[in-house]
Amino acid sequence: MSVTSVSKPGASQTQSKQETKYVFFFGAGKAEGNGKMKDELGGKGAGLAEMTNAGLPVPPGFTIQTAACREYMKTGKVAEAMEKETATALARLEELQNQKLGAGENPLLVSVRSGAKFSMPGMMDTILNLGLNDESVKALARKSKNERFAYDSYRRLIQMFGNVVLDIPKHAFDEVFDGQKKKRRVKLDTELTAADLQEVIAQYKQVVKQHAKRDFPQGPLEQLTLARDAVFRSWNNDRAKVYRRMNNISDDLGTAVNVQCMVFGNLGETSGTGVGFTRNPATGAKEFYGEFLMNAQGEDVVAGIRTPVHISELRKLMPQVYDQLHDITSRLEKHYRDVQDFEFTIQEGRLYMLQTRNGKRTGRAAVRIAIDMVNEELINIDEAIFRVDPNQLYDFLVPTLDESKGGVEVIATGLPASPGAAVGQIVFTANDAVVAAGTGAAKSPVILVRSETTPEDIHGMEVAIGILTARGGMTSHAAVVTRGMGKCCIVGAGEIEVDEKKKQMRVDSLTLKEGDWISLDGTTGRVIKGRLNTVPASADNADLQILMGWAEPFRTMGVRANADIPRDAIQARAFGAEGIGLCRTEHMFFAEDRIPHMRAMIMARTEEERRAELAKLLPMQRSDFEGIFRAMDGLPVTIRLLDPPLHEFLPKREELMVEIARLELTDPKSPRLKEAGEILRRVEELHEFNPMLGLRGCRLGITYPEISEMQARAIFEAAVNVAKDGIKAIPEVMIPLIVTVKEMSNQGAIIRQVAEQVFKEKGSRVEYLLGTMIELPRACVIADDIAVEAEFFSFGTNDLTQTTYGFSRDDIGTFLPAYIEHGILKNDPFATIDQTGVGELMEMGVERGRKTRPNIKLGICGEHGGDPESVVYCHKIGLTYVSCSPFRVLTARLAAAQAAATDKLKVEAGRTK
Ligand code: PEP
Ligand code: MG
Repeated sequence: MSVTSVSKPGASQTQSKQETKYVFFFGAGKAEGNGKMKDELGGKGAGLAEMTNAGLPVPPGFTIQTAACREYMKTGKVAEAMEKETATALARLEELQNQKLGAGENPLLVSVRSGAKFSMPGMMDTILNLGLNDESVKALARKSKNERFAYDSYRRLIQMFGNVVLDIPKHAFDEVFDGQKKKRRVKLDTELTAADLQEVIAQYKQVVKQHAKRDFPQGPLEQLTLARDAVFRSWNNDRAKVYRRMNNISDDLGTAVNVQCMVFGNLGETSGTGVGFTRNPATGAKEFYGEFLMNAQGEDVVAGIRTPVHISELRKLMPQVYDQLHDITSRLEKHYRDVQDFEFTIQEGRLYMLQTRNGKRTGRAAVRIAIDMVNEELINIDEAIFRVDPNQLYDFLVPTLDESKGGVEVIATGLPASPGAAVGQIVFTANDAVVAAGTGAAKSPVILVRSETTPEDIHGMEVAIGILTARGGMTSHAAVVTRGMGKCCIVGAGEIEVDEKKKQMRVDSLTLKEGDWISLDGTTGRVIKGRLNTVPASADNADLQILMGWAEPFRTMGVRANADIPRDAIQARAFGAEGIGLCRTEHMFFAEDRIPHMRAMIMARTEEERRAELAKLLPMQRSDFEGIFRAMDGLPVTIRLLDPPLHEFLPKREELMVEIARLELTDPKSPRLKEAGEILRRVEELHEFNPMLGLRGCRLGITYPEISEMQARAIFEAAVNVAKDGIKAIPEVMIPLIVTVKEMSNQGAIIRQVAEQVFKEKGSRVEYLLGTMIELPRACVIADDIAVEAEFFSFGTNDLTQTTYGFSRDDIGTFLPAYIEHGILKNDPFATIDQTGVGELMEMGVERGRKTRPNIKLGICGEHGGDPESVVYCHKIGLTYVSCSPFRVLTARLAAAQAAATDKLKVEAGRTK
């Protein structure tokens, strides 16, 4: 058979029917497929074909290609041609092995395994020992002279088949098996005799009959057909779907099915099975790394029933096999030019390779391995920079949980909003966090658990080591603020019920109280019960510097940071930020000593009152700006005028009403009652039904020009003040939420006038730019007009996404899971730019802005600025820079460098999957 026409995903039905070659044979040193055919054969199938062609010891078999799975998913049926090709391949296998599937004195037994294009470890299903039945098990016992082995293999088949094909819950089989062990008063599986296992088998068959309302199929071909279809179906099990979503793998690919001769690692003390890596996947160290079990089948290693031993033990037990394995895997690594993750089985002293694929690794390992491979001349520098996924650079910046001691109990999973690890005692309010966190020597780590956070929680968030919320999405308050702080945070952990009053949280039947320990993994979103240790991290890593040193010369787009306070600006610069792309000035007022003034300013009824409060805010704001200018000496700092929906700063209406009702009953003469009444009246006056679309952005400065005046004064006074110390401040004043050019000219006039006033008063001036955020669809459409006034644009893709979709950025969590599940959205548009909709508007803004002002600076400062896929897109549409949270700066730098290198080297951004 030749390998000429292979159907492509998406090929038309009729065309694929005529052309598709469904089944690819491998064995006896030759394979019909090869290592490049991952689309058709999946990673595993392609690896088996490649290893076979390379003359490595691979048990023979055949791969049914992914197109068959896609057809099955679409129609619920399989093509006749596929059935025919399978029968031919099976006959060929039987002839090669001189065996018959599940028949005769030397029955052929096979494994049936899934294998998609991208590895999805453990997500789909596998069936081993297929072909065993009441007759062939006896033959196997005779042939192997090992009754126990034969019956153990048979009971494993019924168990796997029952679970995977017939949907019988695992525990139904476990109860039988554990019952038998109890009856025999033994602890280990291996202590059950052949007779015991025969009893287990009889009961397993009962379980099958009871649950599946049918007998366990005795016909080997029926077993094979049913197993194949079940593996196809496992592509769409819940685990696999979630894994694909997390790893951005398309739901349309489908899995291949590998049918392969069984080799047995459980045939006694000269047999065994194991897994390994050609380098250490956690550290990247160049060491043969792996574990194995003698006298065991693969699933025993994975299931953790027995503890595997380090691969170095194999050297002592079977030095020749060890050397052969070492030699083969080293050759595989050289051949694939990447770390290999392999599986092997030793059957009675003979080594078989069952799988090889590029190994998954941590960020630290990815960098180490890329550098080592360049030094070993296995890859060149241009390739090395693609060997690290930009997101993996987080590993260098955040501590991680130490899971080496095991015993990790995950109680809930949410969105991984801000990476890192946090281990602490839980508290349920910001005030409790402050008390519990303590000061000085009495300091202790706390994790603030809230339904969701608001700006009023900021003091608690500041002292907490990690934040966990039950609600909210990737741009919720908790997510944005913690990312800026580089603090570990998990949001939207919906399984958790937070009861702030009782100071407890519940997950199913588990209740955790204030003071209980939990551990958060902000990189994966896992909430873990108890107290794990953490492993600290630092950005001053020699390996990281080398890799960035190779990547950076390619980069053409700038990378700035979103930072609101000097500490974050210093941090951002240390990570390589080339300026501040967004300073959200309202965040400067979240500090506990500032919120009251901010609130008083908002609540003021007259301009005079407002000016009085603004006068108190001026020095605070000015000193913050001075700090930021000092930190960013010589680099641009984009300062956005006040933007937030005002309700974020006001006391909650409902809480005030409760307080008033309580005081009326308990203390009607209390002065607080009068005060609370006045506040409530003002809160009600300011109440908006839709604050996100209400009095915010430039609408604030237009309604209350004195606010913009104060802010402009603080900016320019700070810039002139630091200049006296030789600091070069480069302010870029940014007006938020513009939809008409007149808004821009209105606010622009104020800024320019205050600037001139300050320069005159101080007797010196600084250069500055005046620009705007582009964060509403209309602004994109009239970008050519706006550019008449604006010297720069910064795309605010959080609001632009919100207003383009009409999805509230704070409430998307309520329906996003359903949208993802039904395939309506592929991912969260607040995390990765929607290129077709929001992107189209951005492109319009870029093109129209440049038409008016060819040299206009164009940036992005929404959360997407730190998302690698979005960064690549920003490079493509020609933005001047991206701006992101300080802790994403490294990621953005590498993503931007890879994007430029892709252009320059004309390579596909071939990141290791
Ligand atoms: C935006 O809308 O993208 C933005 C950066 O502004 P904010 O998140 O502060 O609304
Ligand atoms: Mg915005």
